[in-house]
Amino acid sequence: MNKNSMTKIYSLNKIIFIIIGILGIVLLTKHVGIDIKVLILLLLILFTINVFILYLKIKLYEDKFNLGIVNNSNNIINITKDENFLKHIQNYIISNKKENCVMACFDLCRLKLINDIYGYELGDEVLDNISSNLKSYFGEEAIYGKLKSDVFILIIKLEDREQKIPYLVNLIRNKIVTLSQIDSFKMNINIEASIGIYRFNSDKIDIKKAMDNADMARVKSKGLKHIEYVEFDSVMEEEIQSLMKIEQDLFLAIKNKEFVIHYQPKVDSITGKIIGSEALIRWIHPSLGMVGPNKFIPIAERSGLINNIGRWLIQEVFVTIDNWISEGINVLPVSINLSRVELYKNDLVDFFKSMFNTYNVPKELIEIEVTETTALRDVKFISERLYEIKSLGIDISLDDFGVGNSNFINLKGIPLDVIKIDRSLILDIVTNTKTKFMVKAIVNLSQDLNLKVICEGVEDMEQVKVLNEMGCNLIQGYIFFRPLDESSYKRILTDGSYVNLEDSFLDKYMAVEEAEE
Ligand code: C2E
Ligand code: CA
Ligand code: CA
Repeated sequence: MNKNSMTKIYSLNKIIFIIIGILGIVLLTKHVGIDIKVLILLLLILFTINVFILYLKIKLYEDKFNLGIVNNSNNIINITKDENFLKHIQNYIISNKKENCVMACFDLCRLKLINDIYGYELGDEVLDNISSNLKSYFGEEAIYGKLKSDVFILIIKLEDREQKIPYLVNLIRNKIVTLSQIDSFKMNINIEASIGIYRFNSDKIDIKKAMDNADMARVKSKGLKHIEYVEFDSVMEEEIQSLMKIEQDLFLAIKNKEFVIHYQPKVDSITGKIIGSEALIRWIHPSLGMVGPNKFIPIAERSGLINNIGRWLIQEVFVTIDNWISEGINVLPVSINLSRVELYKNDLVDFFKSMFNTYNVPKELIEIEVTETTALRDVKFISERLYEIKSLGIDISLDDFGVGNSNFINLKGIPLDVIKIDRSLILDIVTNTKTKFMVKAIVNLSQDLNLKVICEGVEDMEQVKVLNEMGCNLIQGYIFFRPLDESSYKRILTDGSYVNLEDSFLDKYMAVEEAEE
């Protein structure tokens, strides 16, 4: 049923109600000489017709709602994954032959920037504009709408896909994702689209999977320079399978005692004294060997398992420190990485309290590291949580500083003791004067604010020299130590916690992880 017939039904419905009203009044006032029985019969018939029309109206609304094509306030069609809508897409694909259909999934690369600089109203306007462009270019020829936040989906029939996909991509980039209709948009931000394409093939149609696949291709296309779009392929499929296997295996990893902790010393590069270490988790997978945290932590975060893994690690660090102390070792502070998901868990502070109550671990020996991106994502909540943690006597480091939209002003409310400058800023510090000035500014400002500065990922002596010149002496990096297994780190603590800055002493320790990687 189209919009015109809908409007006609609504009008008819209104008119009949008006007639019923008039007849009712006439009946009551008994002004006309119609037989009362005929009048009542007429009223009943009209009433029944109207109830039926009302039913049709409701049904029509329900259908639209189920199909997910009820527009939201911004005139943007929302694509839902409910059964009716999936069926609607499936019917479209069947009736247009699946070998001719593609699904494009795209988003805006710079919507966040637009929101941040010009406010959400303009961001909404941009999204609204995309919706109307989709409508005017594809009308009823395709199915399209918003899948989530700024991600759009378009399902369309393209005969001769090989030739036409580049045209479609071009259309999305230049005609759909465009600012031309936005009057208020007078500035110079180039909004580009990231585009993922999925071609339906001879396999059984699975719309949800197709959406996930197109979405994955979209994510893959991000950050690829000079590449206009990415098509989902079998390699990506394998990657997904391997991620799913990791997710399944993670469930058993704690029970099977497959995690170990390595400790990477932090060094005062002037005196050679080790000042503490960072606890870094490793997963010894029964068939894959050592799996690095960058591979499994994001998966654990998505599934919520990070809480179990994180709690295991915290307790293990407490047990280890307690053991070392009872062996008479002079233990140095250990920092523990906390992910965003862990910080949101309400009993985190109580858990730390119970650890301090259970184990003989002085509070100065435990520190935590929270990334800059985590801290800035929800400053109010995170800073409140960090104040609670700090009240236990735990020092707080801001990790990976320099990766996000670093801004000291935004960090004002967050209780911090240490800034850890990210490896990406250290990488070209010797050769790039701009980087050097940036790091120098961070070091100076941190010192003014009474924060300790540690530089991460330092790999050669030239970098150490430059950092020392700007007053940054605390170093964590391969130049001094790779992350060490527990017994190697314990040996260093027992030996007196110094690094010989001069000679090959380093190699002895640097070898530990190299051999395992
Ligand atoms: P991160 O917290 O920034 O940890 C430092 C990473 O840099 C470690 O990688 C370390 O091995 C590496 N690294 C240190 N020095 C150098 C260097 O000189 N050169 C290079 N190329 N790399 C260096 P790793 O251990 O693979 O950890 C990666 C990330 O995984 C960590 O980054 C942290 O975000 C996360 N992670 C590790 N353990 C845990 C954990 O127990 N809990 C949570 N939530 N995250 C963890
Ligand atoms: Ca860290
Ligand atoms: Ca870091």
